[in-house]
Amino acid sequence: MKDGYLDFANSPMGAKLVNALGLPKPMQLERYKAGQPVVRGTVLVGGGGEPQLLSQLAAFFKDIGAQTLAHERLPQWVSVANQAGLTTGRWGGNGQPGEKVKALVFDATGLEDSTQSDALYWFFHDAARSLLPCGRVVVIGRPPEDCASHRKATVQRSLEGLTRSLGKELKKGATAQLVYVAEGAEGEMESTLRFLLSPRSAYVSAQVIRIGRPVGEVVKPADWGQALAGKKVLVTGASRGIGEAIAEVVVREGGQVICLDVPQAQAPLEAVAKRLGGKAIALDIGAPDAPAKLIEAAKADGGWDVLVHNAGITRDKTIANMKEHLWQLTVNVNLSTQERINEAMVESGALKAGGRIVCVSSISGIAGNMGQTNYAVSKAGVIGMVQSTAPIYAQKGITINAVAPGFIETQMTAAIPFAIREAGRRMNSMSQGGQPVDVAEAICWFASPASSGLTGNVIRVCGQSLIGA
Ligand code: NAD
Repeated sequence: MKDGYLDFANSPMGAKLVNALGLPKPMQLERYKAGQPVVRGTVLVGGGGEPQLLSQLAAFFKDIGAQTLAHERLPQWVSVANQAGLTTGRWGGNGQPGEKVKALVFDATGLEDSTQSDALYWFFHDAARSLLPCGRVVVIGRPPEDCASHRKATVQRSLEGLTRSLGKELKKGATAQLVYVAEGAEGEMESTLRFLLSPRSAYVSAQVIRIGRPVGEVVKPADWGQALAGKKVLVTGASRGIGEAIAEVVVREGGQVICLDVPQAQAPLEAVAKRLGGKAIALDIGAPDAPAKLIEAAKADGGWDVLVHNAGITRDKTIANMKEHLWQLTVNVNLSTQERINEAMVESGALKAGGRIVCVSSISGIAGNMGQTNYAVSKAGVIGMVQSTAPIYAQKGITINAVAPGFIETQMTAAIPFAIREAGRRMNSMSQGGQPVDVAEAICWFASPASSGLTGNVIRVCGQSLIGA
C-alpha cells in the first residue's frame, strides 16, 4: 500500500511544513538494485583496545572494493589495510571531522573492560555527524556468553545499548547493528557484513546478530550477486505479499523457486510461478498429509536446498471472545505445520544436507498484541522452534533462523483501521512501514550457502519499531 505521507514529507512544500510543525520526516530509503556495489561511499573504520578482526575486515573491504579511512584513534588501520592491498588514508584529525562517509565500522572485539568504553565515545562522537543519508553502522564484538572474564562479558554486552541508541539518534534512514563473532567464526563474517552494509538491509536496524562456527560446508559464492545459484527454494504463501517478494528475490539471486499456496489461491500462485520461471504447488500446509506430499514433491525434484516458512494467518479476537477453532487454526498453520514439515523434510533427506530453513515470525511474537494471543503464541513459538532445533539440525549441516517483521506494507496491513495503521507505520526509527522486499532480502541472506555461520538467529525487520523494543 502506498504511504502518501512519505511522498508528501519528501516534496519541497511538504518538507517545509513537516519541519515547521516538527512532524516525523521519513526518508526515501535506498534499496538494493542488482549489480550495485555493497557500499556506495567510503567506510570509516575504528576500534578499541587491541582489535582482533582488523586483518579479516581489511580482506573483506578489499573483496567488496570499498574505500576505507582510519579514525585517528586507530592509526594501525592504515598499515593493516595497505598490507591487504587496500588504498586507505586517515580521516580528520585533531578533533576535526573528515569527509562524509557511508558507513562506520567499529571493531570492539578488543574491549576487555568497561573502562575502555570511551573508545566508543570518541569514534562515534567524532563521526556521527559525518554519516551520509541511509548510512550504515556496524559494531563487531565477541559473544558475552563466550568471554573468558566477566569484565569482558560486561563490556561486550554493553555494546547492545550503544547500537540500539545509535539506531534512534542517527535518523535519515541510517541503521546500526551489533554483530557478535565467536572465536573460530572469523571466516564467517562476509555474508552478514555484505547484507548489513548494503541497501539490502534498508529496514533492519538495532539488531544483534550472532555468528558462530560454520554449520556444514563453508561455501563462498563465485558471484555474490547470484548467491542462490543452483539452489531450489520452497516458499510457502508465495501467491502474494511478502511471499511473492521472497520468490522474486530468490530468483534475482539465481535460485529456482517452488511457490506454494492454498488451492483457493491457485490462479495468482501459478501466475507468480510462471512469471518467475518457477514451479507451483497448490497445497494447504495445515492438512495432515502436507509433509508427506512435500517430501514426495521434493524427492521428485532431486531434493530441495531451502525451506522458507512464510505462509501465515491472523484470526484476531481477544482471548475472552475467541472460539477454540480460531486458536487451533492459527497455531496449526503458523507453527505446528512448520514443526511437522521441518522434521519430515530433514528426517527424509528431502531437505538436502547443508540446507537452510528460514521462518517468518512477527514482532507480535516478541511484544504481544491486543487481540492476538493465538497469533503471538504461534509466532513466539516459531522463535522457540528456531532456537531449540538449531543445534539439532546443525548436526546435519542445516541452519535454521527466523525473520520477525514489524509493520510491512501488504494487503494484511492495508486492512488495519486508519489510526492504528498510521501509529504502526510511524512508531519506529524510520517513521515508515517496511516493504515486502525488505523481509525478502533478510530471508535470502539467511538462505545463502555463504551464511553457514548463522543459525538460531531471530532478526527483526521492523525499522527499529518501538513496539517490543
Ligand atoms: P498475506 O496474507 O498477504 O500472505 C500470506 C499467504 O499465506 C497467503 O497467500 C495465504 O494464502 C498463504 N497461506 C495462508 N494459510 C496457508 C496454508 N494453510 N497453506 C498454504 N498457504 C497458506 O500475508 P503477508 O503480509 O504477506 O505475511 C506473510 C508472513 O509474514 C505471515 O507469516 C505473516 O504472519 C508475517 N508477518 C507479516 C507482517 C506484515 O506487516 N504484513 C508483519 C509480521 C509478520
